[in-house]
Amino acid sequence: MKIHEYQGKEILRKYGVAVPRGTPCFTVDEAVKAAQGLGGPVWVVKAQIHAGGRGKGGGVKVAKSVDEVKAHASAILGMQLVTHQTSPAGQKVRRLLIEEGADIKKELYVAVVTDRVSQRVCVMGSSEGGMDIEEVAATHPEKIHKIFVDPLTGFTDAEADGLASKIGIPAASIGQARAILKGLYQAFWETDASLAEINPLILTGDGKVIALDAKWNFDSNALYRHPEIVEMRDLDEEDPAEIEASKYDLAYIQLDGNIGCLVNGAGLAMATMDTIKLYGAEPANFLDVGGGASTEKVTEAFKIMLGNPKVKAILVNIFGGIMRCDVIAEGVVAASRAVGLKVPLVVRMKGTNEDLGKKILADSGLPIITADTMAEAAQRVVDATKKA
Ligand code: ADP
Ligand code: MG
Repeated sequence: MKIHEYQGKEILRKYGVAVPRGTPCFTVDEAVKAAQGLGGPVWVVKAQIHAGGRGKGGGVKVAKSVDEVKAHASAILGMQLVTHQTSPAGQKVRRLLIEEGADIKKELYVAVVTDRVSQRVCVMGSSEGGMDIEEVAATHPEKIHKIFVDPLTGFTDAEADGLASKIGIPAASIGQARAILKGLYQAFWETDASLAEINPLILTGDGKVIALDAKWNFDSNALYRHPEIVEMRDLDEEDPAEIEASKYDLAYIQLDGNIGCLVNGAGLAMATMDTIKLYGAEPANFLDVGGGASTEKVTEAFKIMLGNPKVKAILVNIFGGIMRCDVIAEGVVAASRAVGLKVPLVVRMKGTNEDLGKKILADSGLPIITADTMAEAAQRVVDATKKA
């Protein structure tokens, strides 16, 4: 789960990380009042969307008067902000952060992530902040410094100081940087985050160290123990189909292709999408119905997939392990009837009660196309989209 920058900064503030004073706003009037409340002489008007690269996309503007704050707020609120992290259509801006302007001397980068290879939390930093860290990683990997934290000792003062000096924090400011790095690590750890990124972390003209941006991702599987983070969820930033799917505990991600996929198991779902691509088409979604898919769940899954106007055919690919093929077959038949299925449907099922499942599909009288292997299934569904 993602949150907005201003919410991320609230978390940082709680953990003793220095951030600029700022106020979240929903209207231009609120923005003007916020600017007056903060006092000048410089403000920054920042679009709040769940994507980075806002600065380059025109979503972060400096203002030198309250009138300028008003003008920028009017221009940014309601705009479709396009960045390299949004879809090509961009994301509508519904919230702003009005913040005091900082005197930036140098922009640095720090982040905490889970590293799957070492199975440790990694604290990383770079002197090259502000720009895309992906580019720094590609062209100057030696400029990214990493510390893999030993879970027994935690992130130590010595490690924090070492990292701070490697990214160019002057000796006089190391104490501040230590507090920020340790606060960031602690916040990441206690909130079950998967990413906590400050880009840029700045050094001001008078030697202060401040977090100017905050980007957070949280592990959805741990949200049950963080009601205060769930409260920060902004459904406007999420795909409506994905919100609907999450109500039924379906793992669904909308994609750009035209073949709807209904699969049990995330690995099989990935393999199914790969096979569709191998046969020259594109999946319309990732969908894992999970281990215990009931008829209701399969019906909801069909409805969500068909809610996407791009879908020209559906491929159901099921491996019956704990899940029995006959139960899935009944679900598929009931769901097809319930939604009045109009697009071609290809079903491939293997495993427990496979024959019974196939018989149910055949006896249903529905125009279901069956397939035995994944290759056959993918070919048939791709052919079906061409005929449709
Ligand atoms: P994004 O990463 O989405 O582009 P940032 O919050 O990092 O958004 O802002 C982009 C740039 O805008 C920063 O790198 C910084 O140069 C400038 N900026 C952001 N906030 C402030 C601020 N409070 N004062 C001065 N400059 C700022
Ligand atoms: Mg940034």
